[in-house]
Amino acid sequence: MQLRSQILLSVLGITVLAQVVFGLLVYRELTESRGAQLTIFLQYLNKEVAERLTLPGDQYVSEIYLEELRNRFSTPQSVLLIQKEQQILYSAGDIKKLDLSLISQQLKVAYTGKRKHGIIYLDNNEYYWAISELPNKNYQLIMLEPAANEEIQITKTLKQRMLTTGVVILWLAVWISLLLSSKISKQLSEKNKQLKHIALHDSLTGLPNRTLLNDRLKQLFLQSQRDNLLFALFLIDLDRFKEINDTLGHQFGDELLKMVSARLMGSIREKDSISRLGGDEFAVLLPQTDLEGSKLCAERILNAMGEPFRINNIATESKASIGIAIFPEHGDNVETLMQHADIAMYQAKKSQSGFAIYDPTQNKHSVRRLTLMADLRVAIENKKIQVAYQPLINRDRKTINSTEVLARWQHQELGNILPDEFIPMAEQMGLIRMLTLQVLEQAVDDCKKWHQQGYVFGVNINLSTYCLQDFSLLEEINAILEGAELKAEKIEFEITETALMHDLGRAGKILNQLSDAGLRLAIDDFGTGFSSLNYLKNLPIDTLKIDKSFILDMHNSHSDHAIIKTIIELGHNLNCQVVAEGVEDQKTIDSLDLLGVDVLQGFFYSKPLNPGDFQEWLLKGFARTKTSI
Ligand code: C2E
Ligand code: CA
Ligand code: CA
Repeated sequence: MQLRSQILLSVLGITVLAQVVFGLLVYRELTESRGAQLTIFLQYLNKEVAERLTLPGDQYVSEIYLEELRNRFSTPQSVLLIQKEQQILYSAGDIKKLDLSLISQQLKVAYTGKRKHGIIYLDNNEYYWAISELPNKNYQLIMLEPAANEEIQITKTLKQRMLTTGVVILWLAVWISLLLSSKISKQLSEKNKQLKHIALHDSLTGLPNRTLLNDRLKQLFLQSQRDNLLFALFLIDLDRFKEINDTLGHQFGDELLKMVSARLMGSIREKDSISRLGGDEFAVLLPQTDLEGSKLCAERILNAMGEPFRINNIATESKASIGIAIFPEHGDNVETLMQHADIAMYQAKKSQSGFAIYDPTQNKHSVRRLTLMADLRVAIENKKIQVAYQPLINRDRKTINSTEVLARWQHQELGNILPDEFIPMAEQMGLIRMLTLQVLEQAVDDCKKWHQQGYVFGVNINLSTYCLQDFSLLEEINAILEGAELKAEKIEFEITETALMHDLGRAGKILNQLSDAGLRLAIDDFGTGFSSLNYLKNLPIDTLKIDKSFILDMHNSHSDHAIIKTIIELGHNLNCQVVAEGVEDQKTIDSLDLLGVDVLQGFFYSKPLNPGDFQEWLLKGFARTKTSI
């Protein structure tokens, strides 16, 4: 049954029931009240009558006495009777029209002992009756009184009025219930709509969620299959989102996601649809789109995302990586297509190319990548990342300048995983902060031990781009240094040129913060960033590390030699110490010596060593060289 008819029926039912009950109560009240009055009156007479009847006398005398009482206490139309064992003995009042035996019979039925008054029908008229037992005599005193016209009239009018008001109330009830039911059903359908919307949309951005995407994907799949059409699926992941969220706060992250959604919406056609799959992952469905169309749309999205996002006066960049899979070429079912778009997305991320179209040859790669990503999280959370140390040797070639700390991950099944593979993963997964602090903690502990043994050199820690967004990093670094009672000047952070260029404004602020706290700063892989040198004069840099690609090739390449020479001069002019990394042979050392390099790092002196081996190396080669920076 529909809600409307249910409400209508129940309101009608309640109204009718209430009317009937109310009518009955009023009717009963009216009819009973006179009978009740008679009963009270009879009880009053009862004692006197009983006394009188105990006196000897004949019927005539008794009836005169009864008549006298009737005249004195009752209405002229009333009748008083005395009955014994259903035999009327005495009567007073006008009983001519009445059949006395009929009265006895009717009263026998009506009088139950409990019920002492009521209404009976005699001679086509209604009579109120009341009975009172006379004490000790087995007699009953009965009073009858014809129901007055007035009361009958009242009852009739009441019936009529009740009927009219009943009809009016019923009519109103019908309308009210109709209005009520239509309002309730409207509200319910509105609520249902809202619930459906909530179930199928993302609450932050209002975009369709994964469930709705799956539905639409299935529909589009069937339609494209039937009509022999192509369609494209994009999976989009924001670069650095987790890091931004962690460092600038969730509210900032939320705002960013909203802005990203708006930009995505602005970059697609009307028939395309965008969904948020959770976190910083989005999907776009592009019906009737081929490879060329997909590329155009991906470029449009990347352009839109290229502009910095300005939130609360902070400008931040969050570029996107887009993975593209096209139906039917890259998958003839929904799951495969999703999976392949995902693989393409990781490919785009890895190559930093903005977007990538699914390439079946990457598939194997991706399985390894996904496994590593899951295991890396566990490894970092369980502090399973280890460190290796590689010394940096002073120009005198006898003393140690410092030692670089390099992260090492020994995977249980896959063996040694290179930092070039797992560091970008940790960056992407937002784990680099944790990893950096763990590496720092281990290095600071070991550095403290070396100091106790008399080797007072410091450590060089690699700092990722992502850490240069994090204003709270300094607090954690200070806490670690304080814990080990190590001076800030014993730590040098290495930052790559490309990392700096990512967001120079913000990175500059953090570098100043670190430098003000007494920590040293080095530009790593110098010469590969192709960036303006202007930034150098404004940053508190202590060291330039010439990228090893120049050093390794300096004897074969004239230009590499020239670059090294220039960097060394530049560094010295800026009052920076210059380090050459990738030093593998004596010849290189001699050439670098001639060019005036300050510090040397490379396999010629030592490969990166685990802490135990490094300790041995120290004792063997440089044990006698106790030096400070
Ligand atoms: P990097 O900072 O440029 O580190 C120096 C890399 O050059 C190390 O590779 C080291 O083993 C290698 N190397 C040193 N001497 C020579 C040499 O004479 N010849 C050659 N061919 N190579 C030499 P590794 O350990 O594989 O690290 C690779 C990169 O991973 C590092 O490059 C650094 O960017 C990154 N990385 C390592 N550990 C960390 C870390 O804890 N945090 C961050 N953010 N990055 C790290
Ligand atoms: Ca380095
Ligand atoms: Ca380097």
